[in-house]
Amino acid sequence: MVFLQASCPVRILVLMKAVFLDRDGTVDVGTPTYERVDSLEKVVLLPNTLDAMWRLAQLDYGVFFVTNQAGIAEGLINMAEYAEINNKVLELLAPSGVRVLKTYLCPHSEHDGCNCRKPKPKLLLDAAQEYGIDLTASWMIGDRPSDVQTGINAGTKTILVKTGVPTVEAPEATYTAPSLLEAVEYIARDTDQ
Ligand SMILES: [Mg+2]
Ligand SMILES: [Zn+2]
Repeated sequence: MVFLQASCPVRILVLMKAVFLDRDGTVDVGTPTYERVDSLEKVVLLPNTLDAMWRLAQLDYGVFFVTNQAGIAEGLINMAEYAEINNKVLELLAPSGVRVLKTYLCPHSEHDGCNCRKPKPKLLLDAAQEYGIDLTASWMIGDRPSDVQTGINAGTKTILVKTGVPTVEAPEATYTAPSLLEAVEYIARDTDQ
């Protein structure tokens, strides 16, 4: 038996695994149907999102949204309206039992030169620091190549879902799925859960 002395502290750090989800076009209907999800009426879940989130809730991952909302910078919506819209998405997800731990937001436009807009990895790195996340064991899922690039830039595995602009391709992604449900099923297989 080994006795550890107080002068030699051992910290056992258990890191969380995370699934980072783009929001519009991945969880709820986004481009091309809506250029911007800028009103409550436009908040509609994609067809199998609830099944996907129910499945995701069974897995051992922290779930986060990571969303660019240039509509805020463009003046289409203000922060209060953004919060209302995001809360409505979360409300619609509630029946799945999933808990989205936090939504990480970039409110800037691509012309602002900010340091948080995807594909920059900052929002994921912030989450990793705040929650203690093992990024290499985590996933970024989104409907745009820039979402895939965000994950790559942050060091996660990546899945492109074809639920936004169906013609997009991202050969650099770990996997490409027709929708979020197949993406989550892939993660379940990959992690053998
Ligand atoms: Mg999207
Ligand atoms: Zn930003």
